[in-house]
This record gives sequence, structure tokens and C-alpha cells, in this order.
Amino acid sequence: MAQTYKMYINGEWIDSDSGETFTRLNPATLETIGEFQKGDEKDIDKAVDVAEDAFEIWSEMPAPKRGEILFKIAQLLQKNKEELAKIVTIEMGKVLMEARGDVQEAIDMTFLMAGEGRRLFGKTTTSELKDKFAMATRRPLGVVGLITPWNFPIAIPSWKIMPALICGNTVVFKPSSNTPLCAIKFVEILEKAGIPKGVINLVTGPGSTAGMHLVGHKKVRGISFTGHRDTGAEILRIAGIKKVGLELGGKNPIIIMDDADLNLALDGVIWGGYGTTGQRCTAASRVIIHEKIKNKFEKMLVERIKKLKLGNGLYAKTDIGPLVNQAAQDKSKSYVDIGLKESAKLLIGGHIPKIKGYFFEPTLFSNCSIDMRIAQEEIFGPVVSLITTKNLNEAIEIANSVEYGLSSAIYTNNIRNAFKAIEKLEAGITYVNASTVGAEVHLPFGGVKYSGTAREGGWAAIEEFSELKTVYFDYSGKLQKAQIDID
Ligand code: NDP
Repeated sequence: MAQTYKMYINGEWIDSDSGETFTRLNPATLETIGEFQKGDEKDIDKAVDVAEDAFEIWSEMPAPKRGEILFKIAQLLQKNKEELAKIVTIEMGKVLMEARGDVQEAIDMTFLMAGEGRRLFGKTTTSELKDKFAMATRRPLGVVGLITPWNFPIAIPSWKIMPALICGNTVVFKPSSNTPLCAIKFVEILEKAGIPKGVINLVTGPGSTAGMHLVGHKKVRGISFTGHRDTGAEILRIAGIKKVGLELGGKNPIIIMDDADLNLALDGVIWGGYGTTGQRCTAASRVIIHEKIKNKFEKMLVERIKKLKLGNGLYAKTDIGPLVNQAAQDKSKSYVDIGLKESAKLLIGGHIPKIKGYFFEPTLFSNCSIDMRIAQEEIFGPVVSLITTKNLNEAIEIANSVEYGLSSAIYTNNIRNAFKAIEKLEAGITYVNASTVGAEVHLPFGGVKYSGTAREGGWAAIEEFSELKTVYFDYSGKLQKAQIDID
């Protein structure tokens, strides 16, 4: 019988209030991973209340001391890296090499934020009046609600939890229902590292009930969300007056100019387009290719795609694991049908293979135009669209023709092309001669346009999870009036 897991509230592993559970399957084998607590509004209320109670102790603990606990968490993550990576692969399907990267990202983020305990910089500045000191310091928000997706089930929670904690916030964490076990294993590590009770609380359960209630909760001062654009829009609608950070999707382009190193670009398209089975918000789902090299590159790409091996991500020979669930498999298939109807040319793939699990063939469409849905909408599967361009200006126009603006890349050996792309691409991230994926934890991460409002990572994460308190310290001993005592 499958193991039943609990959720973590006020330092205890408990059942949901309703006693109901839900099942998660391994997307490669369709075996049951476990039964998980189906938390709802009542469980969220409980978690928010204890997080509120814990706020005083946690926020008053000196930040370097909070950092010491984070340092222990990072060490435990290192110690448990292999076990966690295997759980990532089993629960959401990505190949083990990438799952190890997922955990490593959390290790890096946790060490970075541990160090932030001795920074958390504010600013001092001048005053327009004599004998007056002016500065802005950082304060935590209070209780924050963190809602995460399944595609980086260890990394994304760490990108939110660690900066939230170092800033002195207490947390209610609602992970994706596709990856509850990763969330549980992650929180177990925080518990082992000695995080005080009530500071981190985990509620597993549906986004439509538990997640939504957390977003609208009056005692919650901040929401940080990564996931679908439509969910993000709904969150903005119900959050009320609180700080909300959204990391949404992308339709990320790789531009390949006629002067590019084509072998390098090929590696970038394969890694960005088909890595994690195309399920990255920064996935390279559009390739904008110069007409002079189009035919040659297409052939190179098809040959490489033919060699990609689908299979269980735990096996060393597998290049591409399954999609996360049946809905994702259906979505990729439906977009192939849409692409064919739109008269795009299917060069390879497009089918659900006849093997157990939620697999989908790596798929490449050519002759796409910008008005096609397959060139506009986020598919979140291994489906890449090739669009031809005459020159850089047109390539940039094509790149910017979508509603999203998360990541982007250009392959070129011409420095003017590179800088023009950096300046003109409407995206939060631009890579030169590298694929659209590969964020490092100490740099800001986030998108423009419909890709969201947040900037996570590095110093930007500290801004996301704190607010500024402005302090005027007047030591003149008399009433001084700003803007009035100007002579
Ligand atoms: P969702 O936006 O549906 O889910 C993300 C998280 O939000 C999950 O924890 C989910 O819980 C929760 N949630 C869902 N509905 C609500 C709600 N009304 N209020 C509060 N929380 C809610 O994304 P999916 O996991 O379904 O992924 C599907 C799509 O999301 C992908 O196709 C892709 O477009 C996008 N995506 C983008 C990512 C990114 O990094 N930018 C990452 C992952 C997905 P539950 O799982 O219980 O529904």
C-alpha cells in the first residue's frame, strides 16, 4: 500500500482537517508515489495563524543568526542531494542529471541567502536640513504565502523560501499538487536544521481551494507565485492590498544569425527546447533563423532530434523524460494538431509514443509565421517552432511579437548584432551565444510583459521579500520643516 504523507504546521506533521487525501503518480511508470493531505481553507487558516504567532520571534532574531540556520539547511541539502534528485525525477519526470541541477540550485540559493544575513543592505543618504540623518532600512513583510509549480520542485521553493526567511518573514508554503513529495522532503530538511516551529508551514492541497484562500487571506502580507499566466491573473484579482510577485510563462526565442557558430547554436536549441521535456518557463520554444542558414540548420537539428532517447529519467541513457501528467501530454498533442491545421511543416515528432507513461516525441515545426498559435502560445512541452528571418531587425520584431517576455537568446559572432539584441529584445533575460535557460542564483530572474511582475534571485529577491522603512533622525533639537526652512 502507498505511504500516506502529512503536512507540516507549527512544527508538527499532521493530517488535513478534512482527513481527505490525494494521490500522485510517477509520470514515467504510472506507479503510485504516495497519498498526500488534501489541505483546504481550514488548514490554511491554521497555518497562517501559527505563522503570525511565530513572526515576532523569527523577525527579532538577528539576521546573521537566521543566516546560520540557512547555512545548516544548505549543508543538509548538499548531504541529501542524490536522494532529493531521485525524488525529483520520480515525481515530475526530468532526467536525473537535470534533477541534480534542480537540487544544486537550491543549495546555491540557500548559501547565498545565508550570507545575506550579514548584508540586507538599506541605504543612507543626505538630508536637505542640518543636523538630520536620513536612511532607509529593511523590514520583513510578515506572513508570506509562497505558491510554487512542479517543474523545478526543489529549486523554485528555495528561490522563494530562503529570501523570505532571511528577511525575517514567516511562511505558508503551498506547493504544486504534482510534486507534494519534493515539498515534504524539502521541509523535512528545514526542520532538521532547527528552524523554529511556526516559521515554515507546508499545506499540500488544491490551488483552487487552499491556494486561493492563502492568496486572499487578510493576515498574509505577501504572495509570491510561479505558474500559469491565467492563475497569475486570478491571483492579482483576489489578493487585495498586499505585495504580490508573479513569475509566469514564456515563449522564449533563440535568434540564430547567419554569422553564428551553428554547432554551438544546435546545442543551445536542443538543451533549451527539449531539456526538461520543454517544461521550463525559459524553454526555447521559438527558433528565429536567418534565411541563409535555414535549410542547413534544419537538417542538423532533425538529425540531432532523431538521436534523442525518450525514457525513464532515472536511466543514464535517457535524454528526455515524460511530461508531468496526462493533461500536459494532451496539451502537447493538441498543439501539434493546431500547428498542422495552421499549415506549419512538421519536420519530426508530433506523436504520443506507444509506451507507458506521459511521454511525447520531441517535435519540430518549420515554416511558422508569427500569427500562428504554435508561435505565440506557451505549450510547455517538447514542441519547437522555427521561424525564418531576413535580418536582425526583423528577427527582433518576431521575437517581440508575443505577449510574453521572460528569456531570449542570440547566436552571433557580430558584436553589433549582440548589443542591438540586448538593447531591443523585450525580455527580462538575454543570453548571447548561450541558450535561453541557465539562470544563476545571484542574478535577478524574471520577465516583462505577461511573463510577470517579480524579480527573484540575488539582491532582487531581498527587495521582493522585504519593505523599506524610511528613517529621519533629527538631532538639531528644534523644529525643522522640510521644504519650508530652505534658506
Ligand atoms: P498553475 O498555475 O495551475 O499552478 C501553479 C501553482 O499554483 C500550483 O501550486 C497550483 O496548485 C497553484 N494554483 C492553481 N490555481 C490556483 C489559484 N486559483 N489560486 C492560487 N493558487 C493556485 O500551473 P500548472 O502547475 O498547472 O502548470 C501549467 C502551466 O503553468 C504550464 O503549462 C505553464 O504555462 C505554466 N508554468 C509556468 C512556470 C514558470 O516557471 N513560469 C512553471 C510551471 C508552470 P495545484 O497544483 O494544486 O493546482
